[in-house]
Amino acid sequence: MNLHEYQAKAILKEFGAPVSRGIPVFTASEAQEAAEKLGGPVYVVKAQIHAGGRGKGKFKEAAAGDKGGVRLARSVAEVKTFAAEMLGNTLVTVQTGPQGKQVNRLYIEEGAQISREFYLSMLVDRATSRVSMVVSTEGGMDIETVAHDTPERIHTLGIDPATGVMPHHGRAVAQALGLSGPLAKQAEALTQQLYAAFVASDMELLEINPLIITHDNKLKCLDAKVSIDGNALFRHPDLAALRDETEEDAKEIEASKHDLNYITLDGTIGCMVNGAGLAMATMDIIKLYGEAPANFLDVGGGATKEKVTAAFKIITDDPHVKGILVNIFGGIMRCDIIAEGVIAAVREVGLKVPLVVRLEGTNVDLGKKILRDSGLNVIPADDLDDAAQKVVAAVRKG
Ligand code: GDP
Ligand code: MN
Repeated sequence: MNLHEYQAKAILKEFGAPVSRGIPVFTASEAQEAAEKLGGPVYVVKAQIHAGGRGKGKFKEAAAGDKGGVRLARSVAEVKTFAAEMLGNTLVTVQTGPQGKQVNRLYIEEGAQISREFYLSMLVDRATSRVSMVVSTEGGMDIETVAHDTPERIHTLGIDPATGVMPHHGRAVAQALGLSGPLAKQAEALTQQLYAAFVASDMELLEINPLIITHDNKLKCLDAKVSIDGNALFRHPDLAALRDETEEDAKEIEASKHDLNYITLDGTIGCMVNGAGLAMATMDIIKLYGEAPANFLDVGGGATKEKVTAAFKIITDDPHVKGILVNIFGGIMRCDIIAEGVIAAVREVGLKVPLVVRLEGTNVDLGKKILRDSGLNVIPADDLDDAAQKVVAAVRKG
């Protein structure tokens, strides 16, 4: 689960890490009040969306135009004007995709004076089973570009979970950033604070880009991107409450309510499959025959008719779906339940695209009979290969 920048900074602050003073707002008049409280003389008006690259982003609407989603303001009046220009408008950045994201919240911060910009992140590194820190002197820009063009400027260090963060990690960070004296001490303290915040909040990613040195020689986290491990949210009700559903895919939210394993993808073939392995294989074979899946969906082992109905509705509601492939191997799952769920869903929402069904396993004959007797226009398939070819052909004819 991703957090907004202002939420991430509030966590960092709790752990003692240096961040600017700031106030999140939803309206232009709240922005004005926030600026009055902060007192200036310089303010930053920051669009809060779950995507980076806001500074270089462009708004679709003329008012805010190409001035970006992070703007320096020199007066309270300017804060209010910028806020009014940004709120409700759609910001397009390299990370939002061309459709952009609507800006519904802003973070009003006191402006910092920047001497230097660094990069620092922490993530759970699957390869080493450790929390890795990545630091670079090349801050404020796209870290992928730095990694590609000047990999020697990126330093990675792993932290052994048995010992946790140690003073030497902090010294290594300071050295990688070329810091000495009081700034090195600050980098050492920051390393401890960030690691503590990371572990205590069950983060899977913490990215500070840029980490800056201010004019008065202080380290400060000027931006913060945090992602919390969704599987750990049950033990952090305070963090779970920070979820902003408007930032998430509506179909995925609906699916999570029915306890379905569903991920939206960008192809045209809706898939309803049981078992993660079979779901992966189904997506692969659709690709093999030249089309792409519109989703990953594992309805799970003991799905009920209601769950299957909900899953089928999510797929049919998706305007990108030009054909549906139901691929079920009934082991624990019974084929007749799948058939009944499909029919119930079609009764409710109709069926505007071709539907290919491949059933195998427990109660397969009953499942096929239920589909046949329903009068639905189902294209039956014998095996996975046959099913994939049929749905691809149907979508292309479409
Ligand atoms: P991102 O573009 O989404 O990564 O948003 P950031 O929070 O990183 O802001 C983008 C850029 O705006 C930063 O790299 C800074 O150069 C600049 N910026 C952000 N906050 C301040 C500030 O307080 N003072 C100044 N002078 N520049 C800032
Ligand atoms: Mn940034």
